[in-house]
Amino acid sequence: MTQKRIAIIGGGPAGLAAAELLSRSGHTVTVYDAMPTFARKFLLAGKSGLNITHSEDYARFTTRFGAASARLRPALDAFTPDDIRDWAAGLGTETFVGSSGRVFPKVMKASPLLRAWLKRLEAQDTAVRTRHRWTGFADEGYVFETPEGRSIVHCDAALLALGGASWPRLGSDASWLPWLSERGVEIDAFRPANCGFVVGWSGSFSERFAGEPVKSVTATSEAGTFSGEFVITESGIEGSLIYAHTASLRDRLLNHGSAALTFDLAPGRTIDRLSRDLARQDAKSSFSNRLRKGAGLDGVKAALLRELAPERDRTDAERLAGMIKALPVPVIKTRPIGEAISSAGGIRWSSINDSYMLKALPGTFVAGEMLDWEAPTGGYLLTACLATGRAAARGIEAWLQR
Ligand SMILES: Cc1cc2nc3c(=O)[nH]c(=O)nc-3n(C[C@H](O)[C@H](O)[C@H](O)COP(=O)(O)OP(=O)(O)OC[C@H]3O[C@@H](n4cnc5c(N)ncnc54)[C@H](O)[C@@H]3O)c2cc1C
Repeated sequence: MTQKRIAIIGGGPAGLAAAELLSRSGHTVTVYDAMPTFARKFLLAGKSGLNITHSEDYARFTTRFGAASARLRPALDAFTPDDIRDWAAGLGTETFVGSSGRVFPKVMKASPLLRAWLKRLEAQDTAVRTRHRWTGFADEGYVFETPEGRSIVHCDAALLALGGASWPRLGSDASWLPWLSERGVEIDAFRPANCGFVVGWSGSFSERFAGEPVKSVTATSEAGTFSGEFVITESGIEGSLIYAHTASLRDRLLNHGSAALTFDLAPGRTIDRLSRDLARQDAKSSFSNRLRKGAGLDGVKAALLRELAPERDRTDAERLAGMIKALPVPVIKTRPIGEAISSAGGIRWSSINDSYMLKALPGTFVAGEMLDWEAPTGGYLLTACLATGRAAARGIEAWLQR
């Protein structure tokens, strides 16, 4: 096969996954990135334990991507969670399954894996160009701002793997949106995913409880009922249990102007038992004492009830039990996208073919979070970024051989 020149623009997990396959096939591959180093978001993800994939039943796993699940399926089938673990092990990073089923490197961090990955790319003669910001198209090529000035890159195929719109200071700032939409690529506005929500706490509640975890609860929205924990923030709520409901709450806010998450603060007890135990408490004793003795609730859980349960429900045992089992927490808005773990929206699936090539720009492929899909936290994000990067690489190979 004649060597082809391939430009990969964006050196995050999706771009690097594509570079790995294409350089192994002997193509001349150059990875460009606006930042001084690659994969900053991937490295940050490793700061709190790199959740690289999930070990749950694979059929269930493939449904985690909402409306995009069917379109993502072929890419996921070709790079499954087990493949990811083998791939990481091949780069010297052994993984383990945590108690929640999430998969992490034994060292928890992303840096050893990234180092070994970049070394492999170098061994496969992949060229790297950092501080190269793609700024659009000109003369049938891709224009870059570089420390040496403007340069135009001509290539046989290109992959755009520029990420979504969360944490823009790590590189993915979605500045590419106008250049692609001008060329006829359809893009849905980016929205925060896996983000916190503003609740509007009273000053005394947020002052006292911001940063406090609320453990062993369940939360219900249209997305379903999930158990876990979340954190009280100065302005509202965040954490993995909240992220599982982000899409449903965000879209409800958008379409109906209001939304609420309903918490069960005592999932281990039935409403009848709570009612009975609360009714036995001395009506003259304080709300805190009745809650502690009758329901085993104190601290932040008791404070949540004090903050949100209507006054009349606090004195009636049955109504209080109902509030403990189903406390609605109204959310006002999402936290800004810049703080979100990931983003929803991006390039519409109708704008690409099954090989991840833009229909409006033959020879230009896309992968990773810049595509219109979202998933909860749990390793699904990185899995889909790696899988779509590889799928686009196979698309590029097929395109170059056509
Ligand atoms: C705090 C945090 C923790 C996370 N933890 C996890 C986790 O544990 N598990 C998980 O699955 N996911 C996690 N994620 C999400 C995951 O990191 C992202 O989904 C993933 O990195 C997206 O990969 P990507 O390759 O599509 O884009 P990115 O990783 O965003 O990479 C895009 C690259 O493109 C470059 N770029 C952008 N625009 C230009 C341009 N114009 N010119 C040149 N280069 C450009 C950027 O500099 C960047 O290097 C986390 C995210 C955050 C913010």
